[in-house]
Amino acid sequence: MDECLFCNIVNKNIPCDKLIENDSIIAFRDINPQAPIHILIIPKKHISTINDLKHDDSILIGEMFLIAKELAQVENINNSGFRMVFNCNEDGGQTVFHIHLHLLGGRKLSWPPG
Ligand code: AMP
Ligand code: ZN
Repeated sequence: MDECLFCNIVNKNIPCDKLIENDSIIAFRDINPQAPIHILIIPKKHISTINDLKHDDSILIGEMFLIAKELAQVENINNSGFRMVFNCNEDGGQTVFHIHLHLLGGRKLSWPPG
């Protein structure tokens, strides 16, 4: 996956503002934040879209949500509130085809999304 932007971040070919890294996941700040706090939580393993998830990925996906929850506490948005989002394909607004969980907070987020 030489051409995948987020695989290149995982492989440290492209820098990022990293917050957390473990054996399977990296979390870093979004380069174009849509809220005062905007963090991406990504698996090190390349998975193109949520459509490509397998049952074997259950623990990985659960860990991504738990890391996002911990970061919401660290960033002090746990009580004010936040949103976690996976965009999928064109109608979902996905632009990077390596799955990533968005953690957004620090302002009142509108609903429904645009
Ligand atoms: P999505 O539109 O759901 O695929 O989200 C992709 C996200 O990746 C966008 O919010 C971008 O701002 C973000 N992004 C793109 N390139 C980088 C980068 N080099 N470092 C951090 N975030 C990035
Ligand atoms: Zn990738």
